[in-house]
Amino acid sequence: MKVVKFGGSSLASASQLEKVLHIVKSDAERRFVVVSAPGKRDDQDTKVTDALIKYYRQYIAGNDVSKEQNWIINRYADMVAELGLKSTIIEKISKSIISLATLPIENNEFLYDAFLAAGENNNAKLIAAYFNHNGIPARYVHPREAGLVVSSEPGNARILPSSYDKLEELNHSDEVLVIPGFFGVTQYGQICTFSRGGSDITGAIIAAGVKADVYENFTDVDGIFAAHPGIIHKPRSIAELTYREMRELAYAGFTVLHDEALLPAYRGKIPLVIKNTNNPEHPGTRIVHKHSEDHPPVVGIAGDSGFVSINMSKYLMNREVGFGRKALQILEDLNIGWEHMPTGIDDLSIILRERELTPIKEEEILRQLVQKAEVDFAEIEHDLSIIMIVGEKMKSHIGVTATATKALSDNKINIQMMSQGSSEVSIMFVVNKNQEKAAIRALYKAFFGSSENDE
Ligand code: ASP
Repeated sequence: MKVVKFGGSSLASASQLEKVLHIVKSDAERRFVVVSAPGKRDDQDTKVTDALIKYYRQYIAGNDVSKEQNWIINRYADMVAELGLKSTIIEKISKSIISLATLPIENNEFLYDAFLAAGENNNAKLIAAYFNHNGIPARYVHPREAGLVVSSEPGNARILPSSYDKLEELNHSDEVLVIPGFFGVTQYGQICTFSRGGSDITGAIIAAGVKADVYENFTDVDGIFAAHPGIIHKPRSIAELTYREMRELAYAGFTVLHDEALLPAYRGKIPLVIKNTNNPEHPGTRIVHKHSEDHPPVVGIAGDSGFVSINMSKYLMNREVGFGRKALQILEDLNIGWEHMPTGIDDLSIILRERELTPIKEEEILRQLVQKAEVDFAEIEHDLSIIMIVGEKMKSHIGVTATATKALSDNKINIQMMSQGSSEVSIMFVVNKNQEKAAIRALYKAFFGSSENDE
């Protein structure tokens, strides 16, 4: 049995909804459908969630909100008309949108969440009606009824583990259940959303709750690409990816799925498939716990800029007990998080995100390194990018680093640092920001071939 989640672009118009209907109809295993709010129909369009934010702002400012209300209602009404649904459904949706502007403003920390959640909530009503109209017995289920209980953290809810028992009862339904994504209810009944893009999280929670065989996440791309399509022209999509590999790629800038969505599916041991609503025959990317036997060593190449390196050296550093702690203590005292720490015998670098620092903090770090850690030399290097070559099977494969470094040297790319954790899920190279794209292109070519893929 499958849980399927459709993102906003898959639900943006009547023609997209027809594709969704076909996808659900074509596989009787697709029993649970989690939906986003309608997304953009084209680049100029506005997402319904963003329109709800505007509506909220006007409302709390005490302004007339009829323009915002009408825009949102019309967005649904267009789809209802095009799909030939009964007008009762748009009456319901319209009432729900208008009633938002009667909610109390004072002492209501969940007001913003109530506005935002209306996008998903009303879309789920519409889609359930559409399915019924077209021969799929379906039922709209509010997260309250489903038992999706979350923490009281407005805009940043987390599922309460106790929810899962109740969610399992959803299995008893004969109908296809249509559940709005992005929000749950608190123990006190308030609507509380996950962070933006959080419908993915709902899908993963439902999949874990009903113990689905697969969680299918439908977007508008053929799965996860082996490299960023803005850098590599038409990169191949990855057929199979482990959760650990996905984490590494997401860390270095891949953003297909909401990060937190992986957790419930991972814990529930549920394979996740990322598929394309506009090309459902494509197998997409399957995210699994363990690779099949003869899987190639490298799955993808990611890069991210905005890194700095604090470099320090001290004669006989390796003999000094406690040096690393002293250096890290300085960062901890300044409340600075760090990411990587490559070392040599007498030197150590701490790589961190540029946003962790301010000019004052930088000065302070350098001062304290000299004073407290008594380094001979310390500097802060800016404008660095990290490049990650990701693949769990590298561990049992000889020559991955050789291939990578040869590709980089052939393309005259200076490797500033490199590191590989003991789990060997990834190799990380640090390069100058200006060479990031060239490095990704060189590595892509080395591991996946040039084909039509170079820009
Ligand atoms: N509609 C919400 C957003 O735009 C959640 C989602 O689509 O996943 O952030």
